[in-house]
Amino acid sequence: MFYNPVQRHLAIEKLVTRMGPKGQERKYYRIRPARWYGGIITADCVGCGLLCKFCWVSDAVMLRPADAGRFYTPRKIADGLVALAKKRSLDLLRVSGGEPTIGKPHLLQLLDALQGKGYRFILETNGIPIANDESYAENLSKYGFVHVRVSLKGCNEEEFAMLTGAKPNGFTLQLKALQNLIDAGVSCHPSVMASFSPRKSLQALIRTLRQISSSLAEEAEIEELILYPHVIKRVRMHKLKYYTAYTPKRVPPERI
Ligand code: SF4
Repeated sequence: MFYNPVQRHLAIEKLVTRMGPKGQERKYYRIRPARWYGGIITADCVGCGLLCKFCWVSDAVMLRPADAGRFYTPRKIADGLVALAKKRSLDLLRVSGGEPTIGKPHLLQLLDALQGKGYRFILETNGIPIANDESYAENLSKYGFVHVRVSLKGCNEEEFAMLTGAKPNGFTLQLKALQNLIDAGVSCHPSVMASFSPRKSLQALIRTLRQISSSLAEEAEIEELILYPHVIKRVRMHKLKYYTAYTPKRVPPERI
């Protein structure tokens, strides 16, 4: 019984966004420094339209978005990111913890607030909202400081459905997001959760990516499972078999 990934994103959007006097507000649960990309300031938002069986987000945030976090204006989040970036002397920012492209007006207003401040913003996304809204990639193209990382859930439709519980065509939407971004001239690359994929799936995916753009095939990043205690529980509960994984303390430096 697969869910529709587009409809689920739209349903979650109703729970984690609301209109306020200063624009669309979105729920977040923390702002923190993170070790990825050599150091990046991260605002963790609430809410994602996928239910990946390997997701690192806690059950409380993932399964009960209406109860988690608090609503913030784009300005408040921009100020929080910049303040912590200054304190830590870092120049990379991102929104993570959920799907940052849910609530397009909020995200675009957040990017407006960061425009011209000298930071680079990594937009990590599953791509579904970018595929579903033809103008989304175009809207992102006006922010030259944004780089989009589309996180593919497996290497094909079958693996996508197995890993997310969503309809298999969600994987095609992920590829469509990459196509839309390339067409709009947005800096982007794919990352691939490859821990559950046999080698031949990955090879076939690289060939598919090359058909969209040779740069996507060349820049494809391999993402591997990190065995946080609640992730181990989740993976076991879903009886998922993986080929590769790391404990949190043993993630190779090239993956950080
Ligand atoms: S897309 Fe990311 S945030 Fe959403 S469920 Fe999957 S791993 Fe978690």
